[in-house]
Amino acid sequence: MTTVTFADLGIAEPLCRALADQNYINPTPIQAQAIPALLEGRDLLGLAQTGTGKTAAFTLPILQHLASRHEKRHPKQARALILAPTRELALQIGKSIEAYGRNYKLRHTTIFGGVNQFRQVRTMSGGVDILVATPGRLLDLMNQKHVDLSRTSILVLDEADRMLDMGFVRDVNKIVAALPKQRQSLLFSATMPKSIEHLAADILSDPVRVEVTPEVVTVDRIDQRVMHVDGKRKRELLAKLLDDTELSRVIVFTRTKHCANRVSEQLEKSGVPSEAIHGNKSQGARQRALDNFRNGKARVLVATDIAARGIDVSGITHVINYELPNEAESYVHRIGRTARAGKSGIALSFCDAAERAHLKSIEKLTKRPLTAVDTTEWLGEQIVVPAGEPLAPKRGGRGGPNKNRGDRNQPGKHRRFGKPGNQGANAPRGERKQGGKPGGQKQSRRQQAGA
Ligand code: AMP
Repeated sequence: MTTVTFADLGIAEPLCRALADQNYINPTPIQAQAIPALLEGRDLLGLAQTGTGKTAAFTLPILQHLASRHEKRHPKQARALILAPTRELALQIGKSIEAYGRNYKLRHTTIFGGVNQFRQVRTMSGGVDILVATPGRLLDLMNQKHVDLSRTSILVLDEADRMLDMGFVRDVNKIVAALPKQRQSLLFSATMPKSIEHLAADILSDPVRVEVTPEVVTVDRIDQRVMHVDGKRKRELLAKLLDDTELSRVIVFTRTKHCANRVSEQLEKSGVPSEAIHGNKSQGARQRALDNFRNGKARVLVATDIAARGIDVSGITHVINYELPNEAESYVHRIGRTARAGKSGIALSFCDAAERAHLKSIEKLTKRPLTAVDTTEWLGEQIVVPAGEPLAPKRGGRGGPNKNRGDRNQPGKHRRFGKPGNQGANAPRGERKQGGKPGGQKQSRRQQAGA
């Protein structure tokens, strides 16, 4: 956080009031850098990911700009367009607009795939001030002449790298081509591969470049541990960890939808209220699951990577990687769900023999070895993995010095993961480099996202 105020940045009083209602005291670094330039009408290239406060960084100036110009809304038109890769992110942005814009009379709507288009068409028929959309459905509605972007004067591409990874590049280009050339354009991306540089060069004009490195900051605040465990015993380990009530709001990540369902069912059976969220669920079911998690009815949310993107739930105490992601970048996205907005958090990763290669690439990417936890007190055994090669499980390993135990000095039973805040337990050795984009399964990701 910075020490300036939103008013210092030029944010108008009605917005400042709404921000105070949200308990936003000071702008985050990306807000402090981006807002003045955006209020001047500059284009912007933002290197930032979720968790940095980027949504407010672009929505506040847009709201202020639209409210200060009393232009009429025209049927089927939107004065500003925000493109997002997934419906979850689109909904999240919509919620932010609602919260920050509560003292203005601006109209906004959200358009995404996977649901009937009827209501979206009806809302657009009257025109809106701000349209938040995923590219696929938006293009569909444009082709059907339900949406007209010929007078849209502000464009935001959020999570542009994800959008390209999900195979939206052609849709995005077609959408951008339908906008007037004279406009203000913003592009946010967590990574800056060549494809994004090209896209930015195409759509931005003399942009201000702002960059925050949230992974380092966020990851720094997270106490990260690995638990070496036999794949067959993960279920038992999870159940035992959850005996500790201090794991009060937990996201469990799995690689597959099938595993997400299975883990959630097992938790329910053992009396832990949980919800699963993944790409096979209908929009309504996903929303219900998220609401239950947000309001505390579900203590655990079991999620796949793609479904979890854009989810913004505060107060997540623990992230548990039930299965390690096969893309190391996803690990950073996953654990960033805890330690949001300046808080600290705990991330525990289960790792079986088959996942050790994934663990290595994660450690390579984050430039820090994860501290191995002695699982003896939960499972009665510890699998010891020396630096180098995998070993067989060591049975009944209670007692005895063990070089690989990273937690020898931790406090007693079932409390060691209780409180987030063991900061510095995994001090970074250096700055994390932005890696290449995750690849593969483009079509299915996009389908999963329902966008
Ligand atoms: P974002 O990166 O936009 O997803 O925002 C991450 C989280 O930070 C969200 O929960 C926001 O509500 C919160 N947030 C954004 N800006 C601020 C701020 N200036 N002060 C406190 N929380 C903030």
